[in-house]
Amino acid sequence: MAQVRIESLRKEYDVGTVVAVDDLNLEIEDGEFVTVVGPSGCGKTTTLRMLAGLEEPTSGTIAIGGEDVTDVHAKNRDVAMVFQNYALYPHKTVFENMAFGLRMSTDMSAEEREQQVVETAEMMDIEGLLEDKPDQLSGGQKQRVALGRAIVREPDVFLFDEPLSNLDAKLRTTMRAEIQRLQNELGITAVYVTHDQHEAMTMGDRIVILDGGELQQVGKPTHVYENPVNEFVGGFIGSPSMNFLEVDVDERGDTVHLTGLEEEFDFELSGTYVDRHAGALEADRYTLGIRPESVDFTEDTRNSITAGVSVVEPVGSDNYLHLDLAGEFIARVSPEIEPQPGDDVTLTFDESDIHLFDPKTGRDVLGPTKEPPTMATS
Ligand code: ADP
Ligand code: MG
Repeated sequence: MAQVRIESLRKEYDVGTVVAVDDLNLEIEDGEFVTVVGPSGCGKTTTLRMLAGLEEPTSGTIAIGGEDVTDVHAKNRDVAMVFQNYALYPHKTVFENMAFGLRMSTDMSAEEREQQVVETAEMMDIEGLLEDKPDQLSGGQKQRVALGRAIVREPDVFLFDEPLSNLDAKLRTTMRAEIQRLQNELGITAVYVTHDQHEAMTMGDRIVILDGGELQQVGKPTHVYENPVNEFVGGFIGSPSMNFLEVDVDERGDTVHLTGLEEEFDFELSGTYVDRHAGALEADRYTLGIRPESVDFTEDTRNSITAGVSVVEPVGSDNYLHLDLAGEFIARVSPEIEPQPGDDVTLTFDESDIHLFDPKTGRDVLGPTKEPPTMATS
């Protein structure tokens, strides 16, 4: 196992017309499981392929276990990659697929090799499939074999590129737990790419969020959830998504008022707020962000606003109330709160749950509310 250090990594395609990865800096600890998430085309696969040595960086360096491997050929890097499409050899048996990597990379005896494959197959619960060919296997079994083939080599670093995307929802949950079990048992260093923020949040020791080839934020999932550095991260992480409202901020003494909805809505904050990046909070247009679970219902008229209920969406553990409030706005409430469509509700927010994003920079000017963020980009 090994630490991974990525410095100023950049990848351009088509002579610079596409910047797939832009000045990426990231350190991954030995034994750490890092998830990388972002929308399609944000540079996730390109980053992994550079780590694997399958793609040459335009500039920057990659070190694994303290050794600069930027110019080391893929087959001489001690990494294993697990792909979405499994990438098994169709004409080889499961046993041969798993043993192949070992044959390439080690000089162990045939007996040792067989023993290691069988042990790994037992760990992955596929020992009954060793003589089968890939086309005899289900999608879930193929993914187990692909994982087994990676594990049997005992690589320094595991790279996963959306490995569960081709599986149905139930199997995905099973395999997610399986990968986490392996992570606990083997203490593997892993970079796990997914477009699914839920998967990234639940699996990662730390989560890395990319957009447009640029690192947006890196940190522990709960920290990032509570302290998104910008509007993109706030909106990307969490389901249902964070609500956004356009507001005007006026400065009056030690109170900041927010207005800007169709219905007048002054939210009086309890103290003087400053833009933690720029100093004084400018009287200007901002985007207020509030998570669906941070919406409270109130009888009180202070800091409250009335909204019509358009849809009540019961999801079992919660009700999602779709409210008519400057576009799409969802409140996540307990199932006992069940207004009817057409009803009016009065709602408010706790001051500490509010995010205020500067539309010019996208940054949360009030945050972080709880602890310093891990600022990713300068
Ligand atoms: P993701 O895996 O996050 O969906 P990718 O890393 O595959 O994103 O792609 C990042 C960007 O680089 C995209 O704009 C994509 O079109 C571009 N890209 C990826 N591979 C190539 C390539 N071989 N040639 C040209 N452009 C590429
Ligand atoms: Mg990809």
